[in-house]
Amino acid sequence: MKVVCAWCQRAGRFVVLREKEPQNDEISHGICDEHVLVVMNEARRSEAHVSAPARGSVIPQPVA
Ligand SMILES: [Zn+2]
Repeated sequence: MKVVCAWCQRAGRFVVLREKEPQNDEISHGICDEHVLVVMNEARRSEAHVSAPARGSVIPQPVA
């Protein structure tokens, strides 16, 4: 099973973060270091806007 960055995949890139058992071509989704920073920055920015809806601590997932 390959763990790919869902954000990179959405951007048209296929970034394998790591592989895990079982060894096959199935895909699991994770997030790369680059996009962790992007998501954290977006969360911080939305907190600064009082009118923005609160998203809590849930990490947003791209729509498949
Ligand atoms: Zn990524």
